[in-house]
Amino acid sequence: MPDKNTEKKLAALPSVDELLRTSSGSDWLELYPRSLVLLVIRETLNNIRRRMLDGKTDSVDSHVINKTISENLYRLSQPHLRSVINATGVILHTNLGRSPISPAIFKHVAEVSAAYSNLEFNLELGKRGKRYSHITGILREVTGAEDALVVNNNAAAVLLCLTAMAAGKEVIVSRGELIEIGGAFRIPDVMKAGGALLREVGATNKTHLRDYENAISEETALLLKVHPSNYRVVGFTHETSLAELVALSKSRKIPVMYDLGSGSLINLSKYGIPGEPSVRDVVSSDVDLITFSGDKLLGGPQGGIIVGKKKYIQQIQHHPLTRAVRIDKMTLAALEATLMLYRDEETAIKKIPVLAMLTAQTPALRRRANRLARSLRDKLGEKATVSVVKETSQSGGGSLPEQNMETFAVTVRPQKQTVSSLEKKLRLGKPPVVARVKDDAVILDVRTLLDDEFYLLVSALNSAIPEE
Ligand SMILES: *Cc1c(COP(=O)(O)O)cnc(C)c1O
Repeated sequence: MPDKNTEKKLAALPSVDELLRTSSGSDWLELYPRSLVLLVIRETLNNIRRRMLDGKTDSVDSHVINKTISENLYRLSQPHLRSVINATGVILHTNLGRSPISPAIFKHVAEVSAAYSNLEFNLELGKRGKRYSHITGILREVTGAEDALVVNNNAAAVLLCLTAMAAGKEVIVSRGELIEIGGAFRIPDVMKAGGALLREVGATNKTHLRDYENAISEETALLLKVHPSNYRVVGFTHETSLAELVALSKSRKIPVMYDLGSGSLINLSKYGIPGEPSVRDVVSSDVDLITFSGDKLLGGPQGGIIVGKKKYIQQIQHHPLTRAVRIDKMTLAALEATLMLYRDEETAIKKIPVLAMLTAQTPALRRRANRLARSLRDKLGEKATVSVVKETSQSGGGSLPEQNMETFAVTVRPQKQTVSSLEKKLRLGKPPVVARVKDDAVILDVRTLLDDEFYLLVSALNSAIPEE
């Protein structure tokens, strides 16, 4: 039971109707839907009542109540999912939406999705068409594969291929490739979900061709190779090459599939990033099926791309599970437009943000860091110490795990505030800025900053650091 004093304070709180009749009340009703206003008033009053009963708050004046309601209304009327500034230097940041998508393609996405489209209509024949028909041509062109299919994401692509190719049968995989990637996607679990039986061969560090050979039986439906993505086995190791697996697959007439994970459409070694074959290189090794993501090194929307031999792609396309993992029209439009940029490598590097960030050269990064530092010094004055430092950025998203790319970053050390409080304020700002903390400074890696974010970033820092 609340004491007399608390009871009195509770009774003094305004009612919902009283609040609605104030001038703030009419402002709220003018600005927001009535249902939202009622919800927020009730929740705010309930909250205050609870805090009073818990002895956490004493009387609350009407000014504070109004301000809390206004703030809650504003917050709830903004979308919860919103853009953030990625100053971490991690390009394919899984928690920050992985790959930013080129603004150059959004006009097309809007046109296709705001109106009706020929998604499943063949305009030439005037009858039903296939949603996949829009994208197989361009995928064949940029990868050199015979045929292609796209689904929701690469996890779905792997599940679908395993199910359609090997349900109730065995799939042979090296023990060194039974990986787990983010979001608890584990190859053995996906295989089980797809109804295929895992036949692991070799040891963690070494798998020889003869290990695969010896495991082949009547029950074998598929040889699977998996890109280790986010880790590397180093030291005393042996990996059976793709060429060896393809040769074995041909002699024993068992198809071979390669889950490539990232799947870069261009050869990155030219740009100083070695060790990742392009999808075209993998296709030319004559592997039957290849799966990769749309939003990793490809730099497009979330999607799972399957390319390979027509015979198998058709078999997969006709499996009932395909319908359950089908791609939607917005993704399809974004993916097609992104893939079209790959017709010219120079255009792709310039217009696809992930590729531009990945191939950014050190002198350009240094210039950008200097430019950001200058603007920050001008704006922040004595409030903080700003310097430019050499740092390393990462590709992220389980791609290129050994690549630490040299970059330049701007460090900010506020005068009258802890670094962790600045990091938090930036994160909660408008727009939110996600940055790393190191050596008692907030670090802003310019590699992952988009050009039009510089101004926003400077004003976000200015708001987050208090005046002297
Ligand atoms: C990332 C990855 C996946 C999953 O791809 P999503 O597009 O995230 O679903 C599967 N396999 C490998 C090897 C990967 O790197």
